[in-house]
Parts: sequence; structure tokens; C-alpha cells
Amino acid sequence: MTKQTRLTSPETNPTTISIPELRAALNGRVIAPDDAGYDEARAVFYGGIDRRPAVITRVASAADVSQVVSLARETGLNLAVRSGGHSLAGHSVSDGGIVLDLSDMKALQIDTEQRTAWAETGLTAGEYTTVAGTHGLATSFGDTGSVGIGGITLGGGVGYLVRKYGLTIDDLLAADVVTADGRLLRVDAETHPDLFWAIRGGGGNFGVATRFRFRLHEVDTIVGGMLLLPATPDVIDSFVAEAEAAPEELSAIANIMPAPPMPFVPAEHHGRLIIMPMLVYAGELEAGERAIAPFRALATPLADTIEPKPYPEMYEP
Ligand SMILES: Cc1cc2nc3c(=O)[nH]c(=O)nc-3n(C[C@H](O)[C@H](O)[C@H](O)COP(=O)(O)OP(=O)(O)OC[C@H]3O[C@@H](n4cnc5c(N)ncnc54)[C@H](O)[C@@H]3O)c2cc1C
Repeated sequence: MTKQTRLTSPETNPTTISIPELRAALNGRVIAPDDAGYDEARAVFYGGIDRRPAVITRVASAADVSQVVSLARETGLNLAVRSGGHSLAGHSVSDGGIVLDLSDMKALQIDTEQRTAWAETGLTAGEYTTVAGTHGLATSFGDTGSVGIGGITLGGGVGYLVRKYGLTIDDLLAADVVTADGRLLRVDAETHPDLFWAIRGGGGNFGVATRFRFRLHEVDTIVGGMLLLPATPDVIDSFVAEAEAAPEELSAIANIMPAPPMPFVPAEHHGRLIIMPMLVYAGELEAGERAIAPFRALATPLADTIEPKPYPEMYEP
């Protein structure tokens, strides 16, 4: 249980937030509409989402999270929870509401013997993977380093190690969650098992996760990178067949889209449909080269960055 401070009283307008009181109550930062940095703090990954919250709280601890959840409950203001800010629907920012932004909470404790990690939910997939990679360890997240571990984990998490180790939630061992009543709960298979079940795929609907305990796997040098192929029906069809037939060490995430006018794409292909698979073989390197060969043979690649590399480099731009 965390100590709670009442920030509004029934005598005052219940939807009025006292910014000075909130600043005094929280250890983290409070960003109000008149503050420098407000526009930057309310911006999310997808352009076109232009919302103006009443206040943005950059929480510093689970106790702060509990206070902010209680403030939202008491005032009735909309609460938008933000980890990495990549929600397509813009769920991590709201008009006139409170943003609970976890991005200052980035503590990461790795137990190399147990191969587990406690990770605060302000970390991005790239930040977590870079630190875990210094120990030759990894947990599977998605294909983009800037995605927050908060959103991707609560949503399930399909990533570069999915065929070998499963979804991100298959490696979730426990979580600390602040529920709507402001309580901080440790949830795992034995303690609050229903809530543990619900957060593994149920998104942010059941509470605010302040940190996760993950299983780590030995993942050091992988064979991986990006291929760019012309997206003819034959190539797409064969790509799917090869991905299904590949050994489980190989995971593929592919986008089909018009070729962007990037310098590495030959000019005559700009705007034409391409398939852009990101491939990772997590296993013995020569076997990886063999497993990737059929993908390279689907068509003459327009670009090919696949090579042996430390796993965290998959998240570098
Ligand atoms: C470029 C891009 C690439 C992607 N690639 C993949 C991929 O390869 N694999 C994959 O599985 N997904 C992928 N996704 C989807 C991504 O996992 C989801 O959009 C995810 O929810 C984003 O998490 P976030 O923390 O960055 O976003 P946010 O917008 O911060 O959060 C997303 C949702 O989760 C809630 N939430 C976030 N943190 C918490 C928390 N700690 N407690 C409670 N609720 C919380 C938010 O309120 C919001 O509803 C991708 C998305 C983008 C934009």
C-alpha cells in the first residue's frame, strides 16, 4: 500500500487541479499548459494527434502513480497512461485530462544468474535490449526500439524472437500494478492470478503497470537485418511459405508498402510495391546464413542488410 494525499476537497470544484499542490505531492515532474516543454510533452509518436491535457505528470515512483490515479478518480478527469507513446489511437494523451507519463521511470535490474529482470515501464524496447545485451541476454519485444515496454507488453508483444521464445507476455513473470483504487499490487501466477492473466494481453484496462519482471534468454550475436524485395504476388506467396517452413530460430516481420524514396532504394523502384522483411535468426551463425538463403533467393534484393550482429543492433536506426 502506498500513502495517498487528497489533492482536491469536496468543498472545491472537484474538476479543478491545484498545480502547486500536485507539484508538492509528487516526486516526479508536473507539466502544465503554460510551462515550457508542454507542447513537446504532449506530442505522441503518430502525427495528427493534437490533444491538450490539463496536466502531464512525469511520475517518478509507484507512489506517484498511486497519487495520480487517485487524483483522476477523485476529480473524474480522464486519465491517459503513457509509456512509449506509440498508441495508434492516441490513447496515451487526452484533451483536458491527466496524462500519467511513465517515461522518467527507467530503472532496470538484471539478475544474470536467475536470468530475470525487473524493468520499470518507462523503458523503451531499445533501452531494455541494449542493457540486457551487454550480458548476452534478451527478452523478445517488437520490431521498433522506441516502442515502450509498457504498451507492447500489456498488448502481448510480437517480436524478433517470437518463433523461438514466444510473445513478450510468455516471458512476463510478475508485475507491479496500481489499480483504480490507488493500491499497488504485486501480481504473478500465485498472487492475484486473475489480474496477472488480464494484463497479459488486456492492454492498459486493468491498472497502471509500474514495473515488470521478465525472463531473459541467452541471445548474443544473431544473423539479422532487413531485406527489400519487389512485392510481386509470387514473391509474397513464396515469402509466407518460406517463413512457415523456416526453423523456429528464425522470426520474420514483414511490411508491404510503396518503396520510399530512400537513398538505398534504386530510383526506378520508388513508389512501387516492395516487401520489407526484418529477419532474425537467433542461433548458430552458419545455420542462420543457411536459413536466410531461401529468402534472399526469392528475387534479386533491392537492399540487404542481413549479417551477423549483436542482437541490440536490430533496434538501431
Ligand atoms: C512503429 C511501430 C512499430 C510497432 N511494432 C510492433 C511490433 O513489432 N510488435 C508488436 O507487438 N507491436 C508493435 N507495435 C504496436 C505497439 O506495441 C503498441 O502500439 C503499444 O501499445 C505501444 O506501446 P507504447 O508504450 O509505446 O505506447 P503508449 O501509447 O504509451 O501506450 C499504448 C497503450 O498502452 C497503455 N499503457 C502504456 N503503458 C502502460 C502501463 N505501464 N500501464 C498501463 N497501461 C499502459 C496506454 O494507456 C495505451 O492505451 C508497433 C507500433 C508502432 C507505432
